Amino acid sequence: MFPFFRYFNFLFLCITLFLSRPCFPARIVSEPVTVVTTETEKTETHNATWHDFSKFLHAERGSHVSGMSELKKYFHRFGYLSLPETTPNFTDTFDSQFESALVHYQKRLGLPVTGKLDSDTILAIVAPRCGVSDAATHGVHATRRYAYFNGKPRWTRGVPMTLTYAFSPYNMIDRVSMPEIRAVFERAFRRWASVIPVSFQETAEYDKADITIGFFLGDHGDGEPFDGVLGVLAHAFSPQNGRFHLDAAETWSVDFERDQSRVAVDLESVATHEIGHVLGLGHSSVKEAVMYPSLSPRRKKVDLQIDDVEGVQALYGSNPNFTFSSLLQSQNSFNLAVGLQAGLSKWIPSLPLTLFILFFSA
Ligand SMILES: [Zn+2]
Ligand SMILES: [Zn+2]
Repeated sequence: MFPFFRYFNFLFLCITLFLSRPCFPARIVSEPVTVVTTETEKTETHNATWHDFSKFLHAERGSHVSGMSELKKYFHRFGYLSLPETTPNFTDTFDSQFESALVHYQKRLGLPVTGKLDSDTILAIVAPRCGVSDAATHGVHATRRYAYFNGKPRWTRGVPMTLTYAFSPYNMIDRVSMPEIRAVFERAFRRWASVIPVSFQETAEYDKADITIGFFLGDHGDGEPFDGVLGVLAHAFSPQNGRFHLDAAETWSVDFERDQSRVAVDLESVATHEIGHVLGLGHSSVKEAVMYPSLSPRRKKVDLQIDDVEGVQALYGSNPNFTFSSLLQSQNSFNLAVGLQAGLSKWIPSLPLTLFILFFSA
């Protein structure tokens, strides 16, 4: 399986890749990036998951690199590459089929489309990401970049619709209190409810709830085991299944001031993203959208963007109280705040780590 590594190593890798952005002549780095760790950092080990893929940096068509079959499995898992027809397993050769998959991936993730394993692409691949496959049905309009699950499933409960949700009585976490978890999910559900004619109500009757929420470790019986710290963070099922699972191994946080861990993950951001899946949205290629498949540790991304709103309204219609001008207004204030923040920290490179959530067709 994949080796374990420390968060510092991952950060170092990201910085290395970030700094290597200029186009060097194509070459294959066969040795893993060298990292230096200190005693303090040794206390914070976690799952590298896809860290080893950094050795494929600068590979292109015709390259043959030991272990590339694992990278092909990654592309297969997330919906970009079908299983080989003539051989029992993927080969280690960068062939034309893999090149097409790579181009598709770069387009879906909003990356520069080069058909090569450049630094932007490797950064996106090694980042923790949503386990939900990126294979999905797209919106019909070329300028819309949201997506649905195949068959465009949605909840059908009449209008106005009320969906109930419940927390598992057995599978919760200790590091965040129940009142805090409840408050996080209430805010996350309210954001979606404010744009569509659907309301959400918590219920104690877990067995009868439409949406069932729980935290699980490793293999938890649905064929998509969680993988420890970072990597895949959570997954949800398409309508009208309602299962919503979070990886209990993550350092879930509701307050980054309180949680100083470098691998802390914002629970509210993940909750908001997963609810989008529960409602029927796939992954968006708009990087700012809540439905983009990645999220950095210690980042908060909870405000629905126009792309998210257009996607979910195409499924359920608009909440009569919703106006795009109010959304634009809130986004302008957000952008202003981000602009001010960026101005203060312009020398700190932004590292596009990804938060991922698995998502299955029910
Ligand atoms: Zn699950
Ligand atoms: Zn997702």
